Amino acid sequence: MRKKIIAGNWKMNMTVSETKELIGKLKDKCNTDKVDVVFIVPSIDVTTAKECLKGTNIRLGTQNFYFEDKGAFTGEISAKMILDAGAEYVIIGHSERRNIFKEDDTMINKKLIKAHESGLKPILCCGESLELRENGTYKKFIEEQIKSAFLNVSDVNAMNTVIAYEPIWAIGTGKTATSDEAEEVCKFIRDIIGKLYNDKVKDEIRIQYGGSVNSKNANELFSKEDIDGGLVGGASLKEEFIDIVNY
Ligand code: PEP
Repeated sequence: MRKKIIAGNWKMNMTVSETKELIGKLKDKCNTDKVDVVFIVPSIDVTTAKECLKGTNIRLGTQNFYFEDKGAFTGEISAKMILDAGAEYVIIGHSERRNIFKEDDTMINKKLIKAHESGLKPILCCGESLELRENGTYKKFIEEQIKSAFLNVSDVNAMNTVIAYEPIWAIGTGKTATSDEAEEVCKFIRDIIGKLYNDKVKDEIRIQYGGSVNSKNANELFSKEDIDGGLVGGASLKEEFIDIVNY
C-alpha cells in the first residue's frame, strides 16, 4: 500500500513572521502519521519553519534548487544548503519554473539526478497546457516530460521520486480536473513508469494530483486508485489545509 503524501506549495508567499503565524494555526491538526504531510516553503523560511514544527511529523521542502554543489551561481541554493537548513523535499519542474523561468527538460533531468545524489526527496511536476488538453495531444506531451525527466535515473531513485500531475489549466484557476480526468492521467503516468522500469517501481512510486485541490474535492480525488495525495497551492495557505490533510 502506498502512503499518501499531501504537500502544500506556499509559492512566493509568507514572510518569516507570517510563517510562524501560519504554522502555529496548522501544525497540531496537520500532525498525523496517516499521510505524509509536507510544507513546501520559501527557502528563506525553512529555518524558522523547522523550529516551529519541532515535535511534529510534518516535513519541510523547498520549491527549487540548483544542480551544482556551490560556486558562482548568484541567486541559487544548493541541495546541501536545503538539507542543512532542515528541509528534505524539493519541488522540481513546477510549471511556474518551466514557463516563467524557462527551465527546460534537460535542466529538470539534471535536478532530479542531483536531488537523489544529495539525499533530497524530489517532487517532480508534469502537466499539460489547456491548448494541449483541448487538441488531444496531452498524453504524448506528458509521456515526453516523464521520459526526459527520468533519463539515467536508477530504479531505486525512480521509486523514491514523487510525481505531481498538475494540469496547468487547473493551477490557481479554481478549475479542478474531475477525479476521472485526474485518475486517467495518473494511471497513464504509472504505466509509463512501468514501461521505463518494472512492476515494483510502477506499484510503489507515488503520484499526486495538483490543481485547485480544496477541502471539498480532496476526498474524491484522493480516493482514486492511482492518486496518492495532492500538491496544494492556494488552499495550503489557509486553515482549509487542515481539512485537506484530514480528507
Ligand atoms: C500548485 O501551485 O502546485 C497548485 C496546484 O496550485 P493551486 O492548488 O492553487 O491550484
